[in-house]
Amino acid sequence: MRPLVAGNWKMNGLAGDLGELAVLRDALAEQAPSCDVLICPPATLIARAAWTVKGAFALGGQDCHAQGQGAFTGDISAEMLKDAGASYVIVGHSERRHTHGESDSDVAAKARAAWRAGLKAIICIGETEAQRDAGDAHAICQGQLDTSVPDGATPANTVLAYEPVWAIGTGRTPTGAEIAAMHAHIRACLLRRLGPSAKEGAKEMLILYGGSVKPDNAREILNLPEVGGALVGGASLKAADFLSVVRVIAKRF
Ligand code: PEP
Repeated sequence: MRPLVAGNWKMNGLAGDLGELAVLRDALAEQAPSCDVLICPPATLIARAAWTVKGAFALGGQDCHAQGQGAFTGDISAEMLKDAGASYVIVGHSERRHTHGESDSDVAAKARAAWRAGLKAIICIGETEAQRDAGDAHAICQGQLDTSVPDGATPANTVLAYEPVWAIGTGRTPTGAEIAAMHAHIRACLLRRLGPSAKEGAKEMLILYGGSVKPDNAREILNLPEVGGALVGGASLKAADFLSVVRVIAKRF
């Protein structure tokens, strides 16, 4: 699979910030990336972003409702994201799991909704600091993966993102050895979860690392085995920072 560098703008970005996407578009036109590139702006900007980006890179949502339509005030369906110009949606981000109480089965329902709408689901998993300190990080991620990744997941419809909660927005990251060990563990869990009939898919599915990826640590992290790209929060808001991360991965593959 071609690696993926994805940016998550979270609840940041107004129309004036679309200029960053234009800078990114022009830079990628000048030098094509060797990885897939994705920005997930707030849902309010996706349609306008699609006009700006003109297909130079992909756009995604940050969450979706499991239902396609109905009486769910304030929610956004995967079909709406697709209609606005998205081709991906992040599901199960820790900020949704922890502040909106989303369970693993909610996340699986959202991933299925993404597929129904023709979107690729980026399913996030990751342990808290207390869970890592207790030595439970691998077990927690295995449990999340087992229930959040629905049957039928393939590299064409799903990307996994390992995002240790304590590394998100903190400037702290696990060591390279810890990231490599977790990614190897996630690969083994995926192989078991998807079963022998989906072995090739489980081997190929991208596993992104997310949590304080920045231009100055991207090279080390993205060169680790089984790291198929990055999910980038804060450093995706400025085109120059995000491009530095994109360019690192371009050199590796
Ligand atoms: C994220 O929000 O998914 C993320 C990884 O954020 P940051 O890069 O800012 O830690």
